[in-house]
This record gives sequence, structure tokens and C-alpha cells, in this order.
Amino acid sequence: MQITEIYKSLQGESTYAGLPCVFVRLTGCNLRCTWCDSEYTFHGGRRMTTGQVLDEVSRLSPGGGLVEITGGEPMLQERELIPLMQQLLDRHHQILLETSGERLLGNVPLPVIKIVDVKCPDSGEGETFRLENLHALSRNDEVKFVLASRADYEFARAFIHRHNLAGRVNAILFSPAFRKDAAGARDSSHCLLDPRQLAEWIIADNVPARLGLQLHKFIWDPAVKGV
Ligand code: SF4
Repeated sequence: MQITEIYKSLQGESTYAGLPCVFVRLTGCNLRCTWCDSEYTFHGGRRMTTGQVLDEVSRLSPGGGLVEITGGEPMLQERELIPLMQQLLDRHHQILLETSGERLLGNVPLPVIKIVDVKCPDSGEGETFRLENLHALSRNDEVKFVLASRADYEFARAFIHRHNLAGRVNAILFSPAFRKDAAGARDSSHCLLDPRQLAEWIIADNVPARLGLQLHKFIWDPAVKGV
């Protein structure tokens, strides 16, 4: 499979935030979100066999531990990714799969925790989530909305109610979008939507969502990759 990078850091944006985690970042994405901070994954990378990926994960996290499969859009390489995830499970890893849900998720092994990033209108990629994937979600999974505006917030709020999302998944995450050229200050000044404003909307509407901030952008310079 084509891999952009494999590294160890802290998980940054789910209910697993703050835990040590090995990231396997696959190359390639079929979407072009306006605020994407991972454009370096669109091209390049290096070809690795499943065995080479497993060896690198074992070197970074011997004996198990948390592994996040991310991208880009990892499900574009489903044919090789599904066996990789199965082998990681066999080696006692806990796996998070970060995906936009634009590809069908029915073949993902059940113990894999899906973190599905449903795209909102301001991403420029709204309407790309495949509604069939709602049936592939379980109580282990999480759905994330990255929000850049009030319109995005209203879209996410309506989506949650329309599809009874709180009854389907473990957590619903609302996260303010970051400017993709953010650098320097490690604070919320780079957010496209003020976290305080978002918090007040969530409280006022009693939305069953957790406010999440991208932890790594408050620990390291937001421009730094591979953390
Ligand atoms: S799906 Fe993810 S990697 Fe692809 S363009 Fe959107 S934010 Fe970037």
C-alpha cells in the first residue's frame, strides 16, 4: 500500500484524545476540503507491504496499543487495508479508522473503531457522506463534524436529529476547523469558528455532542507535521 508516514504521537481528536497512538497515514484522497491540513498526503508516499507496515507499528508500539489508520482517505486502499487491520487486531492492537464515509464501510472488521468525519457545507465536500454507512456504524464508533460556520453547525445539528445519531454511536464530536496555514501560536486564534461561540451554541441547543479541540495543535506548532 502507499504510505505517507508512520509515527507515534498522542491521539488528538476523539474520545481517545490524549492517549499514545501510532499513526499509519495512507497516501491519497478523493476529496479536497477547503480547510484540509493534510494536503501533503495527496501525492507521493512510499510503497510498503503489509509486513513492512506491521513491523514498523510493532517497533513503535511493541505488544499492542492504540493504532490510528488515517490519511488522506484510507478506504481508497481498502483491498490492502482490510487485511492489515485484521492482522493488527490479531496482534492485540486497538484500531481507530479515520474516514470521511464517502466509501462504503461495511467490510471494515467490527472491532475497528470507526471515526467518521461527515463533511459539512463549508468544507466544500458536503453531501459526500454515503448514507448507507449509517447502517455500518455501531456503538463503538464515533462521528465527527468539523465546523467552520453557523451554517455548518446547523447542518450538523439537523443531521444528528434526522438520523438519530446519538442512538447509533458512542460519541458525536464537534470540532472547530483550523486555518490550514496556521503556524506559530498554539491557541484558538487559528480556529475558523471560535470554540467559545461553538460551546455556547451546543449548550443553548442541548446538542448531544462533545466539543473537541485538536489537541496536537495546542501542544505543538500547528504547522508541524508528523506529531
Ligand atoms: S478528507 Fe481529509 S485528507 Fe481528504 S481533503 Fe478532506 S480533510 Fe483533507
